[in-house]
Amino acid sequence: MKLASFLLDGRASYGVIDGTEVIDAGDMLRGQFPDLKSVIAADALDAVRSAMATAARLPLAAVTLAPVIGNPGKIFCVGHNYETHRLETGRDKTSYPSIFTRFADSQTGHGQPIILPTVSTMLDYEGELAIVIGKGGRAIAEADALEHVAGYSCYNDASVRDWQWHTAQFTPGKNFPDTGSFGPWLVTADEIPDPSTLSVTTRVNGTVVQSQPTADMIFPIPRLIAYISTFTPLSPGDVIVTGTPGGVGAKRQPPSWLQAGDVVEIDIPGVGLLVNPVQAEA
Ligand code: ZN
Repeated sequence: MKLASFLLDGRASYGVIDGTEVIDAGDMLRGQFPDLKSVIAADALDAVRSAMATAARLPLAAVTLAPVIGNPGKIFCVGHNYETHRLETGRDKTSYPSIFTRFADSQTGHGQPIILPTVSTMLDYEGELAIVIGKGGRAIAEADALEHVAGYSCYNDASVRDWQWHTAQFTPGKNFPDTGSFGPWLVTADEIPDPSTLSVTTRVNGTVVQSQPTADMIFPIPRLIAYISTFTPLSPGDVIVTGTPGGVGAKRQPPSWLQAGDVVEIDIPGVGLLVNPVQAEA
């Protein structure tokens, strides 16, 4: 099942994507479950399935897709999780994953502009597979980790490199508003028994700039879940953005920065195609 969060006539809702239509389950269920995160937290996908029979069906084009989870308690990103990206950034091999955080209000949805801030000339793409936590937990064993995943989505961890490089800490460059694009929807985990069989491709204006199988992750998803949940509890709706393959604009010769008018696509067959234009900050 494909689950999406969206705006309809200015009202926030959520529902199920069915081909070129969206089923507005949130309109029926919002009294019980105000948003997709609360559906996931209550393990209430059956309620969504039941609502599908009678909920309004709308053309997908009638809604504005929002970040899949707009209000995650925690968003973790993983640095240098593909060997090609580790090598291009000149990082040493490490025994542990590099983890940094994003704030929920840095996110945007499919079709919405990624914003090039006026204070930067170095906006870059990072195509990634995102996972959304279903069942929370602490110190989750690798062997049990995938049972804690609600589903998978595409993520563009768009990065403001000059601000990322001010110091050794990534936080400023990873948290400008409208830079973390998350969507277009969540594919529930039952449809993707093994997320290491996927591939992540990024295109800028139609040209492939990154493309790699998720099997190439240095720290696979079960290891990430086990590691992160050892230092902090994972809760339903939390997001882990699993790292980007080699080919970022910053490490091209010469570097290639995103410009207003560019269109960035993150393509994960079996999950979705996330498309965002780039727009200069007003
Ligand atoms: Zn990233």
